[in-house]
Amino acid sequence: MRTTLLTSFLAMLAMPVSAADITKTASPNGRLVVTTAEDGGKITYSATYDGITVIEPSRLGLVANFGSLAEGLSVDSLYEGSVTYDYELPNIKVSDIKREGRVQSFYVSNSAGQRLGVEIVVEDNAIAIRYLIPKQGETGSIRVMSEATEFRFPSSTTTFLTPQSDAMIGWKRTKPSYEEEYQLDAPMTAKSKFGKGYTFPCLFKVDGGKAWALVSETGVTSKYCGSRLSEYENGAYHVAYPMPEENNGNGTVEPAMALPGETPWRTIAIGESPMVTAEQTITWDVVTPQYAIAKAPEYGKGTWSWILWQDASINYEDQKAYVDFAKAMGYSYVLIDNWWDLNIGTKGIENLVEYAKKQGVDIVLWYSSSGYWNDIVQGPINMMDRSIVRKQKMRWMKRIGVKGIKVDFFAGDKQETMRLYEDILSDAADNNLFVIFHGTTIPRGWERMYPNYVGSEAVLASENLIFEQHFCDTEAMCATLHPFIRNAVGCMEYGGSFLNRYMSRDNKSGNRRLTSQVFSLATAVAFQNPMQFFALAPNNLTDAPAECIDFLKEVPTTWDETRIIDGYPGKYVVMARRSGDDWYLAAINGTPDVLKVEVALPFAPDSEVKLYADGKTVDDVVLSTVKNGAKLGKLTVKPQGAVVMVGK
Ligand code: CA
Repeated sequence: MRTTLLTSFLAMLAMPVSAADITKTASPNGRLVVTTAEDGGKITYSATYDGITVIEPSRLGLVANFGSLAEGLSVDSLYEGSVTYDYELPNIKVSDIKREGRVQSFYVSNSAGQRLGVEIVVEDNAIAIRYLIPKQGETGSIRVMSEATEFRFPSSTTTFLTPQSDAMIGWKRTKPSYEEEYQLDAPMTAKSKFGKGYTFPCLFKVDGGKAWALVSETGVTSKYCGSRLSEYENGAYHVAYPMPEENNGNGTVEPAMALPGETPWRTIAIGESPMVTAEQTITWDVVTPQYAIAKAPEYGKGTWSWILWQDASINYEDQKAYVDFAKAMGYSYVLIDNWWDLNIGTKGIENLVEYAKKQGVDIVLWYSSSGYWNDIVQGPINMMDRSIVRKQKMRWMKRIGVKGIKVDFFAGDKQETMRLYEDILSDAADNNLFVIFHGTTIPRGWERMYPNYVGSEAVLASENLIFEQHFCDTEAMCATLHPFIRNAVGCMEYGGSFLNRYMSRDNKSGNRRLTSQVFSLATAVAFQNPMQFFALAPNNLTDAPAECIDFLKEVPTTWDETRIIDGYPGKYVVMARRSGDDWYLAAINGTPDVLKVEVALPFAPDSEVKLYADGKTVDDVVLSTVKNGAKLGKLTVKPQGAVVMVGK
């Protein structure tokens, strides 16, 4: 992996003392312009895109335990320069990333002489802002009490947001876990469900859709907490820290670090459409790999009994059946979910790993993260929360040849949970294990920062279709949100692509999935995670259309390029991903009406394209091969259905 290259600062300028503007930074193509200003001792930034105001003057700064660096400030130095990002990242939407940005960085000081740096990167379609905190004389550490960082959108802006949950509520008191429903196209004045603001990422439609902005954060390590967006207050949102109730009330809300240090980056992807903001890569551009590993995880596909067969399937015979099923699908992995400690046991797991190896399949094991922070009894518990036990278990897994772990039910976003994520990843790296997080927060640049990190849930995922019919009813609509919002800032462990019509082991009882079989192929393309544990079951080998099984055997899980071609969050999405020379196109209709749309396709003009369309019923698949793939751009997609194409 090539490293981020910070090119030389072009100029070091003396500050204009009394002018309101600190400086103006235009993106390389000039369309995105960020202006910083000093106004009565407060520092602000604002942004325009093609001349349209996207961010009105919004405050910057923070309050430290030793003094306020949010007001009474004067600017004392300014640096302006450029940056080039050039790196490879096989586990997200585009494998070879090249971006350019312009940089402004300035220091402010308060009347006590305490100093704070502000660093802003402006790419063509993204802004990243962070604070640089120098050592303050003898003071070599900081507790950051709050951030002033605001996002002040024009008043006509509408929002696509998911609320932050209250802490210590829900099943076994495991919330928040980024599994709430979105409110779509809502005015900013709408209250969030719990009155606790919103989880990142947050999508905003500005000026009737002339510009869009996707707000998130990245570069969060053990040295900071995860943040969220506050409620809309006094005409703005601001960066908010975790709630005191998170982590069962234990741990601090305020992050602390040694100085000099820096905060995570606050990111805003900005473009003329939600397609542009969905293709953002600022999340990874500005972060630094935290360690190297000898060998990257072998990304691929796996089977997972728990999603349809649930807890009762965590026994030796059923897991053996899922190993055989993985082999039949040509998949690399079987994920064994909760209760294996009790119902299979250590010796049984060792036997299963041996059996699986003979079938060319590897095992991934589930653990609870807890811990004192919820009431989870699903085992194994109390192993991943403490380094002594964690390392013992990981050494055992390395010895017997387990390849990865899925760790579930985390506490919240306090710094001590960020420490736990990092410690699990780091210990796992030492033991050749890759890591998946569930019941969890979103990743914040982790795909690049921690090379054995694979993906996080942090979404109302496939399990909810089992739990409530309501989530079957809204499945297609939700699928048109994730490419624009959640999955745009990080790998998403959704665990979907059911081929069962009914959400149960017998495929006759339980909730009824309303989406078509082609829809399930489409989400295998639309939902990105470098390892996909699909929600398939052995019966699908005989009761699902053979075309679907063949497709799910072959579909890649890593991509060289991603294009979000058309769509509207909550209504539809047309997107394509390239793996080598092959383009996979997915068009998903989340509305109750037939979708007719005309789009430009990525296929070569004379190419032959495999076309999967919905048939008469949701269970019928019509597979055809069409010449001249580029001319297929007039799409008709049934309600809760999809069109999928594969070609060069
Ligand atoms: Ca979950």
